[in-house]
Amino acid sequence: MNVYDSVRMADVLAPLGYAASDTPEGADLVILNTCHIREKAEEKVYSDLGRVRAEKERRQKAGGRMLVAVGGCVAQAEGAEIIARAPMVDMVFGPQSYHQLPEMVTRAVRQGGGVVELDFPPVSKFDTLPESVSPQGVSAFVAVQEGCDKFCTFCVVPYTRGAEYSRPVAALEKEVRALVEQGTREVMLLGQNVNAFHGEGPDRQSWSLAQLIARLACIEGLERIRYTTSHPRDMTEDLIALHGGEPKLMPYLHLPVQSGSDAVLKRMNRKHTAAEYLDIITRLRKSRPDIALSSDFIVGFPGETEQDFTDTLHLVQQVGYASAYSFKYSARPGTPAATDDQQVADETKAERLQRLQALLMSQQEAFNRASVGQTVDVLFDREGKYEGQVMGKSPYMQSVHVRNGAEWAGRILPVRITEAFANSLAGEIAIPQPKQQRRSAA
Ligand code: SAH
Ligand code: SF4
Repeated sequence: MNVYDSVRMADVLAPLGYAASDTPEGADLVILNTCHIREKAEEKVYSDLGRVRAEKERRQKAGGRMLVAVGGCVAQAEGAEIIARAPMVDMVFGPQSYHQLPEMVTRAVRQGGGVVELDFPPVSKFDTLPESVSPQGVSAFVAVQEGCDKFCTFCVVPYTRGAEYSRPVAALEKEVRALVEQGTREVMLLGQNVNAFHGEGPDRQSWSLAQLIARLACIEGLERIRYTTSHPRDMTEDLIALHGGEPKLMPYLHLPVQSGSDAVLKRMNRKHTAAEYLDIITRLRKSRPDIALSSDFIVGFPGETEQDFTDTLHLVQQVGYASAYSFKYSARPGTPAATDDQQVADETKAERLQRLQALLMSQQEAFNRASVGQTVDVLFDREGKYEGQVMGKSPYMQSVHVRNGAEWAGRILPVRITEAFANSLAGEIAIPQPKQQRRSAA
């Protein structure tokens, strides 16, 4: 979401003459677009600001000027405190205010900094952002939903991103069409709670994510659709069915469960049990047997016992993930779990995280190994590390690299997988079988 927001910030600033730069050196404006989800992400902001400050001082000594802004969720949570701690910061703005950047820049120049914009304005920022989106390449992000009303007890999102909001279907269709015209072949629909999408449809009714995806799938030239992040509670029947019926919807789903213990899930306020989660997985696999799954896990949530943690390992064994993210619980200011008096010791968290990650990694490696010898469609979206190497994504989100394929960039081609690694696959372009043969095989 922050990557998408950064693209949109650049769009909003383009009419003022700003263009993106690769480094802060020589830049007229530096924006740190920040994440508040865990403490580690937050700490990075202040260390990055130290580096930016040196550059700002160099500019000032040479008689120039550089504006420094902190945007995103750390800005929303800490507000003016950021300027108190780092006075060289000129502007602080939250994730719902960045459409006001041109006005903030003017104010910062006029008053010499001190701009703090943390409102959740009644007019959605999406209504005022420019219609044109910069080209994002073969694979593009599109924010369809933002914010969250779920209030899991560990999470800052409802406080920093605000209440749930879904964009209207017509605006999304327009944005995706424009991206496709600029060469995009795959869209990743984004939302903190993307499957809670309930945007206004062209018929003025509230449309589900499944309805939105079905509509976008009609766009010619758009080949692949993905969405993230979903909540188990919002995994509706129409969406599960669409996985079986819509070939453009990729067979991969990131569906965070956080824990395999019902007691922990309850204290997390996740509003589902482990059995309910497993039932969703069963129904998804019935609809789309080859669907690959990924998840997020938190270890060491307050009060988590060894038995609770073992329940998580057990759930992982039952599901079999293609990939996953796992984190030590990080107490976030203002959230209910942060003041729970049953905090788990850091060594225990570290030890559990290691055990969980070893299991998840063994599943990921097994999933990748099973691809060897298979032919999969790869969307080539970027250059590889080595000369002539091209990288792409399999339908199951695996990174695939092919040698001597620079000319394949932007295309979807069948690739025979020859080698599997922990985090990627290697392969060679497979000559597609003639249609006749495929028919007789069927
Ligand atoms: N809306 C998504 C998750 C968004 S936050 C969902 O409901 O699943 C992304 C991930 O960060 C979460 O899934 C969770 O695993 C992790 N996370 C959020 N808050 C955290 C915290 N306080 N400590 C550790 N991990 C956290
Ligand atoms: Fe945070 Fe996701 Fe829970 Fe919302 S549903 S509070 S974004 S973890």
